[in-house]
Amino acid sequence: MKIFPGRQSGAASELKSATFTGQVIVDPVMPTTDGVTINNVFFSPGARTYWHTHEVGQVLTVIAGQGWVCVDGETAQPLRPGDTVWIPQGERHWHGAAAGSYLLHTAISIGKTEWQEEVDNADYQAAQP
Ligand code: MN
Repeated sequence: MKIFPGRQSGAASELKSATFTGQVIVDPVMPTTDGVTINNVFFSPGARTYWHTHEVGQVLTVIAGQGWVCVDGETAQPLRPGDTVWIPQGERHWHGAAAGSYLLHTAISIGKTEWQEEVDNADYQAAQP
């Protein structure tokens, strides 16, 4: 067994940019352990991931705010506090905040994440019902 302590005083939050659009802070909850990685991810309004897939899968649990999750070729689905999403192996998707709200979700990623291209503004807007 391993216990990973909660957030430590003075620990720096990491601002991500290479695989995200807009201001996104990724705060580690559990570093990769036996292929499982857990992060709290804070999206500012309009911010989102790039397109990507997960080697095994991913669980998203929405803590606060409002956002969207979108599978390639489908309409985006709304994310609200209390929602839990399972993204299966290899399913190409993105997730992020709504245009008018921040979003905080916990992401439990299993296996490696394969990052692809940016979700451009046209795709971000077109995906929303
Ligand atoms: Mn994902």
